[in-house]
Amino acid sequence: MSAQMNDQQPDEVNNTDNGMAPTCAVEGDVSTPVPLDSIRGALTQGASLAKHVWFKSGGAADWLFEPADLEDLKAFCESLDGNIPIMALGVGSNMIIRDGGVPGVVIKLGPQFAEVEVTGDTTLKAGAAAPANKVARRAAKAGIDGISFLTGIPGSVGGVTKMNGGCYGRETCDILVDCDVVLPDGQFVTLTNADLQYSYRHSVLPEGSVVVEARFKGFPGDPTVIKAEMDRISSERKGSQPIGSMTGGSTFKNPPGHSSWKLIDAAGLRGFKHGGAQVSEKHCNFLINTGGATSTEIEGLGEIVREKVYAHSGVQLEWEIKRVGRP
Ligand SMILES: Cc1cc2nc3c(=O)[nH]c(=O)nc-3n(C[C@H](O)[C@H](O)[C@H](O)COP(=O)(O)OP(=O)(O)OC[C@H]3O[C@@H](n4cnc5c(N)ncnc54)[C@H](O)[C@@H]3O)c2cc1C
Repeated sequence: MSAQMNDQQPDEVNNTDNGMAPTCAVEGDVSTPVPLDSIRGALTQGASLAKHVWFKSGGAADWLFEPADLEDLKAFCESLDGNIPIMALGVGSNMIIRDGGVPGVVIKLGPQFAEVEVTGDTTLKAGAAAPANKVARRAAKAGIDGISFLTGIPGSVGGVTKMNGGCYGRETCDILVDCDVVLPDGQFVTLTNADLQYSYRHSVLPEGSVVVEARFKGFPGDPTVIKAEMDRISSERKGSQPIGSMTGGSTFKNPPGHSSWKLIDAAGLRGFKHGGAQVSEKHCNFLINTGGATSTEIEGLGEIVREKVYAHSGVQLEWEIKRVGRP
């Protein structure tokens, strides 16, 4: 099997990260990308990804690899030898998988990568597949403050590490010490907070790499007070976000000096529909799949929103949701 990488599409708005995976075509024989006897995890050809993402839409991965453990992941990546694109998938709470599927290999970490451990008075380590919420709960129990915001983010530790997930005035970059990463060639490296060059919902985690573990630091606090703050965050979220819907979280980054939801609301788009996709009535910066929406409809709705907001306010919205794969 050979893979050909084409140029990444430039972001139409401002040339920053546009949330796209590299566009590439897998050509030639569709044989397994690595010798099967060299791996212990599960490698599935043409695996549907819809069930792995919150929108419950989109196509299949050419290959889905679920490694047995860290050594398996390293050996798998090493044997790909940089010849095929890799994309890590967390719990898909910030992602549109396009209907044509994802070229190359999608890597999904399982429960063996989901341990969370308190390592000191104010420190924890967590596997990349652990829910961010689990880190918040474990920190609260241990009296580690400053991490409670993670309770409001339904993503994985790998996802928040890459996306610099945040809410209520705090972001992952405020608590991340460093993380262990398997690079696309199988190399195992530790990247510090500074290495990741965090900015708003963005890091420079190398393309195709997989975070396997992250270490966090908070500050001393009272477990009861922290727990109360987490309860407050949870109930506020239930009231203001379509938590039970098929959605992808905040669709657009907040432009400097603006709230995306206010711009969308002002453009008259609350509840606006495009096929089976709809702008949430509850929170205008959330798109929802009302039932049988395709990813094309969901992404198309996002583009309509961008156009109409620009026409109404002159502000260009930039996608926060990652849109990956072939149209
Ligand atoms: C109801 C709802 C509320 C939300 N609220 C917030 C919020 O308040 N604040 C906020 O910041 N976000 C929020 N989100 C968005 C989302 O939860 C975060 O962006 C989260 O960080 C994504 O994690 P994930 O595991 O779902 O990643 P995915 O959506 O699976 O992937 C997102 C990106 O992270 C990469 N990635 C995932 N795992 C790894 C890994 N192990 N190694 C390397 N890269 C990886 C993927 O390749 C992709 O580029 C919300 C989403 C929903 C549905």
